[in-house]
Amino acid sequence: MLNLILLGPPGAGKGTQAVKLKDKYNIPHISTGDIFRKNIKEGTELGKKAKEYMDKGELVPDEVVIGIAIARLREGDCGGGFLLDGFPRTVHQADELSRHFEDTGGKIDLVIDIVVGKDELVRRLSGRRVCKSCGATYHVTGMPSKVDGVCDECGGELFQRTDDTEETVSNRIEVYNQQTKPLVEYYEKKGNIVHIDGTTGLENVFSDITKSIEA
Ligand code: AMP
Repeated sequence: MLNLILLGPPGAGKGTQAVKLKDKYNIPHISTGDIFRKNIKEGTELGKKAKEYMDKGELVPDEVVIGIAIARLREGDCGGGFLLDGFPRTVHQADELSRHFEDTGGKIDLVIDIVVGKDELVRRLSGRRVCKSCGATYHVTGMPSKVDGVCDECGGELFQRTDDTEETVSNRIEVYNQQTKPLVEYYEKKGNIVHIDGTTGLENVFSDITKSIEA
C-alpha cells in the first residue's frame, strides 16, 4: 500500500514524474486536471463548468473538485495505493481528504513537494506542447519533438494547452502561491512531506523521489 501526493507549482514536473512513479510502483495516477480535460473534450456539463475556471488559470471551486477526487479514490483500483497529482490544491480540499481517510482508515504515506523557481516555471509552461492523442509532453526548446508539431511516440498532433499561454501561466503561479502553497506548511505540521529540487533533470528528480519513498 503506497498512498502518495505530488505537490508543487504548475510546471514543476508533477505530471512527468507521476507517469514514471505510476509505472514503478504500479499504482493509479489520479490527476484532477486530466479528469477535467477529459470532460472538456467530451463536452460534459462538468467539463463546461471546469473550463470557465481553467482557461483563466483559476481553481475550479472546492465543492466541484472534492466530490470528484474522493469518488475516484473510492474506486477499486485505489485499494492498493494511489498517486494524487494536482489534488489537494487548497487547505479545504486537504481537510476533506483527511476526513475521507478518517472514515476509511487509510492515510497519506508521503507528500512529495517538487520545488522550482518562478522564472523557470514560466519558461517551462509557456513552451510546453502536448500530444492530442497520447498526452506525451514536449518543450519547444528544452525537449522538442523530432518533427515540429508531431508526436515522436504516436505521430499525433502537438498543441499548446489553452492554460499554458504566458498570461494564464502567471496567474496559475500566483494562484498556486496564494491557495496551494499553504499546504506545504499544512503537511509539514503533519510531518509527512519531503522537498525535492525539481531543477536537477528528470532522472535525478525521479531518483530523489524514489529514495524518499523508500527511505
Ligand atoms: P493541472 O493539470 O493539475 O495543472 O490542472 C489544470 C487546471 O485544472 C488547474 O489550473 C485548475 O483550474 C484545475 N484543477 C485541477 N485540479 C484542481 C484542484 N484540485 N482544485 C481546483 N482546481 C483544479
